[in-house]
Amino acid sequence: MQVLIASGNPGKLREIQEILADESFHWLLPQDLGLDLKVVEDGQTYAENAVKKALAYWRASGLVTLADDSGLEVDVLGGAPGLHSARYSPLPGATDADRRALLLANLRGFPRPWRAHFHCTVAIAGPDGTLYLTEGDCPGEIVPEERGTNGFGYDPIFLLPERGLTMAELSSAEKNQISHRALAVRAALPILRRLGGG
Ligand code: IMP
Repeated sequence: MQVLIASGNPGKLREIQEILADESFHWLLPQDLGLDLKVVEDGQTYAENAVKKALAYWRASGLVTLADDSGLEVDVLGGAPGLHSARYSPLPGATDADRRALLLANLRGFPRPWRAHFHCTVAIAGPDGTLYLTEGDCPGEIVPEERGTNGFGYDPIFLLPERGLTMAELSSAEKNQISHRALAVRAALPILRRLGGG
């Protein structure tokens, strides 16, 4: 069965492809189909945004489509940046580094540890547009200095306290064992196998 992975974020795409590498589906990316849809992520929940992306690409391709929406939630900031993680900095052209710096500036003055978790919701649109949702969370804490160069987004300031390493200090294989995205995507595999008749 062909499955379209609907994401325009290169970091997320790379991870999803690695997590799914051993599965015997025929994975396609939007660029394989010449698709570059601008989906406005204005939902009130991760699920709403993931569903919007999955349905937009399902409608455009007619293929079973997997989309994810994810974010970082910091306890003392009431769950911010949360749904707005990708757009946390108001600066035009802001980078991941700008967003990390803004988060650290907003955390200054709060006592540590700055507990946080990553969340990921995966939406699958089946052949007839029927929707399926799965979720994953990864707990940790934010640290004030950047460590590591792997991963993307907030990974260099997201510490896994039990490992004593930030997410950006893990290899991609290690991150893909424990991450919110890995948990949500793996939970989606039985659904994909059922849809594929396997
Ligand atoms: P979206 O799912 O495209 O809305 O983007 C989610 C945003 O949350 C990303 O652009 C990152 O800023 C952040 N994020 C989500 N997952 C991760 C991760 O695994 N590592 C670091 N940052 C992440």
